[in-house]
Amino acid sequence: MNEDCLFCKIVNGGIPADIVYEDDLVVSFRDISPQAPVHLLIVPRRHISVLNELNEEDKMLIGHLALTAQKLAVEQGIDESGYRIIMNCNAEGGQTVYHIHMHLLGGKQLAHLC
Ligand code: AMP
Ligand code: ZN
Repeated sequence: MNEDCLFCKIVNGGIPADIVYEDDLVVSFRDISPQAPVHLLIVPRRHISVLNELNEEDKMLIGHLALTAQKLAVEQGIDESGYRIIMNCNAEGGQTVYHIHMHLLGGKQLAHLC
């Protein structure tokens, strides 16, 4: 745990969040400033600041984040209508919380990005 990290505090119960799912590797909760009707964050329990720090040993973890997003999309009823997963890295990528996380967005027509 990183003592100064917001998401470490949420993962460890020090700050409340609207948690929708948790297992031994990840925790998922609703984004405090939702950009779509469904906007969840999927966060590894382990503190990793930026995507740049991932290595070969983290393949399973990153796959688990994606499969958790898929499962939550079904639970949230957006798997057929469609959804987007996003991971931002560093300032120009739009990262504001330096504990890696996957956004799961859906429930409306999302703007075309690329
Ligand atoms: P990013 O900009 O990719 O680093 O995403 C960080 C996200 O965390 C933003 O969408 C914020 O709205 C969200 N966020 C910040 N503080 C909290 C919080 N206390 N609970 C839930 N989501 C948060
Ligand atoms: Zn952290």
